[in-house]
Amino acid sequence: MATALTRRAALGTAASALGLLAAPALSRAQGTARLLVIGGGFGGASAARFARLHHPEVEVTLVEPLTRFVTCPYGNLLLSGFRGIGDITHSYDRLRGRGVRVVHDRAEAIDAAARTVRLAGGETLRYDKLILSPGIALRWGAIEGYDEAAAERMPHAWVPGDGGQIQLLRRQLEAMPDGGVVGFAIPPNPFRCPPGPYERISMVAAYLKRHKPRSKILALDAKDAFSKQGLFQDGWRALYGGMIEWVPASQDGRVVRVDPAERVLETEFGTRHRVDVANVIPPQSAARIVLDSGLADTSGWAQVDPATFASRAAADIHVVGDAGNGAPMPKSGYIANNTAKQAVASAIAALRGVPPPEPLYFNTCYSHVGEEYGISIVGIYRVGPNGIVEVPNSGGVSPRGDLPEQRRLEALHADSWYASITEDMFG
Ligand SMILES: Cc1cc2nc3c(=O)[nH]c(=O)nc-3n(C[C@H](O)[C@H](O)[C@H](O)COP(=O)(O)OP(=O)(O)OC[C@H]3O[C@@H](n4cnc5c(N)ncnc54)[C@H](O)[C@@H]3O)c2cc1C
Repeated sequence: MATALTRRAALGTAASALGLLAAPALSRAQGTARLLVIGGGFGGASAARFARLHHPEVEVTLVEPLTRFVTCPYGNLLLSGFRGIGDITHSYDRLRGRGVRVVHDRAEAIDAAARTVRLAGGETLRYDKLILSPGIALRWGAIEGYDEAAAERMPHAWVPGDGGQIQLLRRQLEAMPDGGVVGFAIPPNPFRCPPGPYERISMVAAYLKRHKPRSKILALDAKDAFSKQGLFQDGWRALYGGMIEWVPASQDGRVVRVDPAERVLETEFGTRHRVDVANVIPPQSAARIVLDSGLADTSGWAQVDPATFASRAAADIHVVGDAGNGAPMPKSGYIANNTAKQAVASAIAALRGVPPPEPLYFNTCYSHVGEEYGISIVGIYRVGPNGIVEVPNSGGVSPRGDLPEQRRLEALHADSWYASITEDMFG
C-alpha cells in the first residue's frame, strides 16, 4: 500500500513516522506533500518520473521552459549524420500522463525561507522539497570575445535547447569547402561531459572523411590530458589517419580570445589560428538560478551533501546533475539521473522523518569514435568519510588494442544506453 506523506510531516510536526506509515494516502485537498522540480533535463525529468513511480502520493510539479527537449547526448551524432534531430528530441507528454504537472516556464527566484519559487510568467509555486537540476551556464566572456552574439558564428552546442546550436554547427560543416580547417576550443576541468569534446571531434572527422576528405581538425585544449585519451587517440589514428591535430595546454592549446568576424582562435601565447568552422566550448558554472539564489560558492558550483545531494547553503533544496559538485564523479547525464533519484528518495525520507537510503552512484559514459566504433568508461562511487570515492576496481575504461568486435558491440551498447536512459527520464 502507498505510504501517506502529508505536509504536516514536511513541517516535522507530531505524527510519528509510524503513524504516517500506517495511514492511507491523502488527497491533495488534505495537504499532500509537494515536490517541486526545476529543470526538465537529465536530472529533473528523471527526478519527476522517479518520484511519481515510487511515491505516487506526492504531488510533483516540473518547471521547464522548453516544450521539447533535445538531448546533448547523441547530439554529436548529428554532425556525422549517424542520427537526425528527431532521434534526440523528446516530449513531456508521457510525464504528464504519469501525473506530473509540467509547467513550461522559467524559475526566476527561489525564496528558501518561504519555500516558494517565482516563475518568469508571474506564478509563485510552493514546495515542501525542491529538486534543482537546471544544468550549466556558459561563462560568457571567460574567453575574450566569446559572448552570445559570437556563439551565432562560432557555435558551442553545449546546452540543450531547441537543437539550433548543433544544427548550426552541422550547416557550417556542410558549407565549408573541402580542404578547410575545423577548429575546436576545449575548456579546462570541471566541465559538462568530460569525453564530449573528443566524441564531437570524432563525429566531425567521420563527416569530413566521407564528404570533405582533404579537410583538417585543429583541437585546441586548455588541458594536458583528457578522458579516455588513449582510446580516442587509437581510434583517431585507425579511422581518420592524420586528419586530427590535438594541441594540449602545455603546447599552447589554451584559447583565450576569439575573433568571430575573422573566425580566429587565439591562444595564450598569442598564436592566431584562422579556421573555417569553429566550435567554442567555453568554461562553465552552475546555471544562473543556482548562482542568483546564493546556492553556489566561489567555485561557481553548488556544494551538496554527497549522501543526499541536499544543498549545503539552504534547507529543503537538493541540487543534482551538473549544477552540483559531485566530484570526483563526472558531470554526466547518467550521474544526473542517479543523483536525482537519490535526492528524491532522501527528500521523501526526510519528510517522513526516516534516514535517507545509502547511496551507490553508477556511471557509464559511452563515446562514438566511428559509426561502429564505441568506447566507454565506467565508475561506481560511494560516500566515504571525506566525500565521494570511487569503489576500488569497480570500473575502468574499455581495453585498448585492435578489437573490432568489442568496438562494434560498444557502439550498440551506447545505443541501448541512450534508449534506456531517455525512457527512464520521459517514458
Ligand atoms: C555534446 C554532449 C554529449 C554528451 N554525451 C553524454 C553521454 O553520452 N552520456 C552522459 O551521461 N552524458 C552526456 N553528456 C552530459 C549530459 O548532457 C549532462 O551531464 C546532463 O544533461 C546534465 O543534466 P542536468 O539535469 O544537470 O542538465 P540538463 O540536462 O542540461 O537540464 C537542465 C534543464 O534545466 C532547464 N533550466 C535551466 N534553468 C532553468 C530555470 N531557471 N527554470 C527552469 N528550468 C531551467 C534547462 O532548460 C534544461 O532543460 C553530454 C553533453 C554534451 C554537451
